[in-house]
Amino acid sequence: MAKDKETDYTEVAPQDWLQVTITKAVSMGASDIHIEPEQFRLNVRFRIDGILRVIDQLHLTYLNQVISCLKVMSGLNIAESRRPQDGHIVFRPQTLAPTESVDIRLSIFPTVFGEAAVLRIQNRKDLIFDKLDKLGIEPYDLEKLQFVLRQSEGMVLVTGPGGSGKTTTLYTILNALASSQRNIVTLEDPVELRLNGVRQSQIHPELGFDFSQGLRSILRQDANVVMVGEIRDDETAEISIRAALTGILFLASIHTTNSVGAIIRFIELGIPPSMVAAALRVVITQRLIRNVCPNCREKIVPSDKIVQFCRIPKDYQSKFVQGKGCSECDGTGYKGRTGIFEVMFVNEDLQRMIIEGAAFTDLELQAKRNGMRTLKDVAISLALNGATSLDEVIRMTPLH
Ligand SMILES: [Zn+2]
Repeated sequence: MAKDKETDYTEVAPQDWLQVTITKAVSMGASDIHIEPEQFRLNVRFRIDGILRVIDQLHLTYLNQVISCLKVMSGLNIAESRRPQDGHIVFRPQTLAPTESVDIRLSIFPTVFGEAAVLRIQNRKDLIFDKLDKLGIEPYDLEKLQFVLRQSEGMVLVTGPGGSGKTTTLYTILNALASSQRNIVTLEDPVELRLNGVRQSQIHPELGFDFSQGLRSILRQDANVVMVGEIRDDETAEISIRAALTGILFLASIHTTNSVGAIIRFIELGIPPSMVAAALRVVITQRLIRNVCPNCREKIVPSDKIVQFCRIPKDYQSKFVQGKGCSECDGTGYKGRTGIFEVMFVNEDLQRMIIEGAAFTDLELQAKRNGMRTLKDVAISLALNGATSLDEVIRMTPLH
């Protein structure tokens, strides 16, 4: 909730303020803390369930002390204030047991009103599941995915915007694959979590060690499974596809809004459709959708516009809920998030259509015939069960 007045912290040492603020962020389940100078004040916001919220407002004079303190905590250069800096903090919140700690990735960015800081809180339990079935992929899709993962080659892609849980999915898959019989190597930017039984490597583009160069080396490392943080350029795309066709089970994320989009993206990057068709096994598109707060949820009648957009049959229109906001959910009407998945398996029909150069809509139609449920279908069924709201469905799923 936004406060009208700035809090007076002149009496509080910046390290104590940071201790209290980070502890509060961890206990509220925030993923990021934003410390943002504006013209006349310092805003502090938390990202909770994917949405930013103003938590505190401080006098601007406090900024330099807080930023210096962060630089000391993460071993950054205190004298440097004109260039961005990235650091890492291992933090022990007062609320956790003395042996437990939280990893924080710090990014400091110079703005016209002073240095802004974003602290990404990395909670191990949010970044990985011990079993694949905990991801939330439908059992029918999961069974087919497990079959694909047992094979010795082919490409498995995970797609979605930042903060949609792609890393969790990739880490959970890697964790499930880790065994003494397979050599698993990754190229990441950054390595967010250290995994047992996996050789993880952090790229350094400034040293010429980027995804494509790293990949070439990995192919000489006798790897069985390779994971690349993100395929962003034509060179990485080409080496990845070739690897997936020559005895490597290849995992990667790629930036598209839906599963069919991944096919189109590879073709746009200059990969021959026949190679895309032969290499690609499955594309998993995902989002994290907010759950309606169970404490303040109430039935609602959706507007005509929403009914039309979501194509809801008349008989179902009375089934929807929304949170009106309460103290449990900090007035937002939502509490916690659920992963939703659009899982597309590339079967022979799709392979043929990719080679023939079929358009997006035709590919998607075929994928649906093969049993794919789109993100929107999955989200609407969650809303029908009262788990989320129609507003959230519209916010989180692609428009088509
Ligand atoms: Zn509530």
